[in-house]
Amino acid sequence: MVRPLVYLCVCLVVSTTVLHKTAVALSYEGVTDALIKRVTGQREKLAVISTDHNDVMNHSKYHNYTEMMEMLRTVERRNPDLMTLRELPNRTYEERAVKMVELHGNSSQAGDPPKPAVVIEAGIHAREWISPAVNLWVVDALIQGYRKGDPNITAMLDNSDWYIIPVTNPDGYEFSHKEDRMWRKNRRDIRWYCKGVDLNRNFDVEFSTTDVSNRCWEEIYPGDQPFSEPESFNVKYLVENLQHRLVAYVSVHSYSQVILIPWGYSTDLPKPPNFNETLRIGREMASAMEVRHGKVYRTGQAPDVLGYASSGTSEDWVMKAVPGIFAVGIELRPAAFGNFTFEAFELEEEQIVPTAEEYFDGLVAMAKELQLI
Ligand SMILES: [Zn+2]
Repeated sequence: MVRPLVYLCVCLVVSTTVLHKTAVALSYEGVTDALIKRVTGQREKLAVISTDHNDVMNHSKYHNYTEMMEMLRTVERRNPDLMTLRELPNRTYEERAVKMVELHGNSSQAGDPPKPAVVIEAGIHAREWISPAVNLWVVDALIQGYRKGDPNITAMLDNSDWYIIPVTNPDGYEFSHKEDRMWRKNRRDIRWYCKGVDLNRNFDVEFSTTDVSNRCWEEIYPGDQPFSEPESFNVKYLVENLQHRLVAYVSVHSYSQVILIPWGYSTDLPKPPNFNETLRIGREMASAMEVRHGKVYRTGQAPDVLGYASSGTSEDWVMKAVPGIFAVGIELRPAAFGNFTFEAFELEEEQIVPTAEEYFDGLVAMAKELQLI
């Protein structure tokens, strides 16, 4: 892809670095193992002290998809009153089930109005491992906080239902663990010489107009048509099923430390009707996130805060499909300093817990602004 590197921020792409990617993939496990041995004690301590979570989930390392699903099944078995692990309707190209965590506090009684719903979509881009990791932490935090009677968390789960897809793109995620650490797309066979659709360009909003390539080997190949992919169709299915009570949608990525306000598809900066309110809540989230560890998250439309527009993204589509709701993208740590680097996707495991803490504070701020607390 011919693109000035300065624009290759965040969820962006480069297809010309096969050797580099292979080198990263080959070295990564060794480096990780060494790091684990060296600092395991410190991180275990950090995870326990700062999360006070149970012994099922280990938040001090990145897990593969199988490990994550096993942990979630165990948490579900222990907390059947609070959590249900559901399977979304479409299996992936490689036949993996896409699981969703549903969290609910006090059940509604007959005659009660339906509860507001919040959807979090994580791991749609394979290499952004911090996105599934922090959402696993959030599942843990919500359950543990509810058990302990934390007032904010109790209100969140009693007043609303939370639907979290920790790994929306499990084929890509597994491929990024086993073969190519910098893989971004899903794993559909397109031609004999290329694989994968960029799922976050595959939604039906200004499809295939900006920041896409019709060359299937590129990392921003959007597919033949909107919702051509089982993974993006799963999101559509969920959102359309919940649309009468959906109040918030958060798409979680890395990196850049920004909160993305729709619309993000054009450098002309068109705005949805509830833009000002969305921006206001986004800024409240960013403020809460900064308080925790001092990390600054900028808030705005993608062309302003990232430097480029992207068409066919999930948060833009949800904002279009369910007008008036709060829909944003979040790019987690690290911050971007102008230059795209692959290394930035490899956020150190020591940063999982602090990143999760600030991200969770952002979600709590969002819930307060949406009067779910
Ligand atoms: Zn991304």
